[in-house]
Amino acid sequence: MTAVTTELREILAEVVDPEIPVLSIADLGILRNVEESHDGAVIVTITPTYSGCPAMDHLRTEIERVLHENGRDRVEVVTTFQPAWTTDWMTTTGKTKLAEYGIAAPRTDATAPIRCPRCTADDSRLVSEFGATACKALRVCTSCGEPFDHFKEI
Ligand SMILES: [Zn+2]
Repeated sequence: MTAVTTELREILAEVVDPEIPVLSIADLGILRNVEESHDGAVIVTITPTYSGCPAMDHLRTEIERVLHENGRDRVEVVTTFQPAWTTDWMTTTGKTKLAEYGIAAPRTDATAPIRCPRCTADDSRLVSEFGATACKALRVCTSCGEPFDHFKEI
């Protein structure tokens, strides 16, 4: 990574998921690439998560906004769907932030227990396949009794 791409990534760390504001697009793994073209334009490549989770139009606008605020006038946001985004692209930091925010993170191994973000017990039951948004399931911890969202693996 060059100094320029490091700087651009730091600027883009301000762009967060509108539904889970503790997660940046880098944490989510949505940010695939940032580069400066030979004529000085910033080219940002993103891969959307599945529809509406989060709102991609909003993120595109935010990417342009933070770069403009940092003196980057020419910004091109490229969307790529191949390969498709998966929850495995979420960073370890992102998963930790998600649990601290009260949402059980997607598991790398889908057979691993889902950990309650409040008391860290591994025992919970599914209440609904769809929680606050389609990407999350609503569960109840059988240890502390609290409901929590689980960011589903895809
Ligand atoms: Zn619990």
